[in-house]
Amino acid sequence: MSVNKKFGQLLLVMVAGGMGGVSAQTTPAQTPMVSMPVPPADVKIETVSLAPGIYLLIGRGGNVGLTVGVDGAAIIDDQFADMAPKIRAAVAMLSDQPVKFVINTHLHGDHTGGNDAFGKSGAVIIAQENVRKRLGTAQVNPSTNAPIEARAREALPVVTFADSATLHFNDDDLEFTHLPNAHTETDIVVRFRNANIVHMGDLFVAGFPFIDGNTGGTLDGLIRAHEAVLPTLDDNTKVIRGHGPLGNKAELAAFHDMLVVVRDRVAKLVKAGKSQDEVLAARPTKEFEEKYGGANFNAAQWIGRAYVDQKIALEKRKKK
Ligand SMILES: [Zn+2]
Repeated sequence: MSVNKKFGQLLLVMVAGGMGGVSAQTTPAQTPMVSMPVPPADVKIETVSLAPGIYLLIGRGGNVGLTVGVDGAAIIDDQFADMAPKIRAAVAMLSDQPVKFVINTHLHGDHTGGNDAFGKSGAVIIAQENVRKRLGTAQVNPSTNAPIEARAREALPVVTFADSATLHFNDDDLEFTHLPNAHTETDIVVRFRNANIVHMGDLFVAGFPFIDGNTGGTLDGLIRAHEAVLPTLDDNTKVIRGHGPLGNKAELAAFHDMLVVVRDRVAKLVKAGKSQDEVLAARPTKEFEEKYGGANFNAAQWIGRAYVDQKIALEKRKKK
C-alpha cells in the first residue's frame, strides 16, 4: 500500500466478523491500574533494536513496541503516565517526528497510562472496542464498592475495531487481531507482517500469567489465544512479551503447553469437588514453579486464580 501525508496515509481496514464475536457477558468491574509488579519509578528506558526501524522499549510497565520511518513514529502500548516523557525522549533519539499513533494491546493501566499525554499531543489512539468501552465509563470495585473514574477524554482510543484492523505504516502492515476473553476481553496481538515481529501484550509474559476475570479474562481463552497465534509464527519470529525479555515461538509454545497442563489438572480437581486449599496442596504447578514462579505471581497466588477461573468455567459448562 502506498502512503501519503498526514492522516490520509492511514488506511485502516476494518474487517468485521473475522475472529468470532466479542463476549459481552462479563459485567463491568474493577479495572486494575497494574497487572504486574513493577520496578521502581526512577527506571530508565532500555531500547532494543529488533529490525530496521523497529524497536522494543523496556521501562516501567508493559513493553513498548516502536516503529520509526518515512511515515513517522508509532508505539504499541505506553506504560504508566509518568513514563510518557521518557518514552517520548527514547522515540526522539530515533525519529524527529512526534508519535503519530498509539496502539493499546489491552486496557490495563501499565499499558495505557501514557494515553493521556500522547492523546493530548495529537497521537491517534487505536484499540479493540472494549478498551474504549471500559476506559470510557466509570466502574466500581466489586469488593470495596470504591468508584473507579473513567479515563480522560484524550486518553480514550479514537479508532476502534471489533475483530481486526490493519495499519499501513512505515512500509509494513501492522495487523491487529482481537483474541476474546483471554488475559482480558480487550486483548489484541499486533503483528508486523513484513518484519515478522509480534507484540503479544499480556497474552505472553515471563512468569505465570495474570488472568483478569474482572474484565472478562479466562484461562481457557488465553490458551485459545495462543492456539490462534502460534500457527502464524515461524522460528524466526520475534515475539514481544507484555512483560519480560524478547521471546520466540518455542518459548510461547512452552508457555502455552504449561498452561494446558496446569489448567487440565486444576479442572479435574475442581470437577471432583476439591476445595481451593486441596487444589493448592496438590501443587498442579510443581514442575513449572522454578521457571515461571516469582516473576509475576508465585505458584500459590496463581493456582488460586486458576481455581476460581476453572470453577466459573465448570459452572458455565453445566448451564449449557
Ligand atoms: Zn495486563
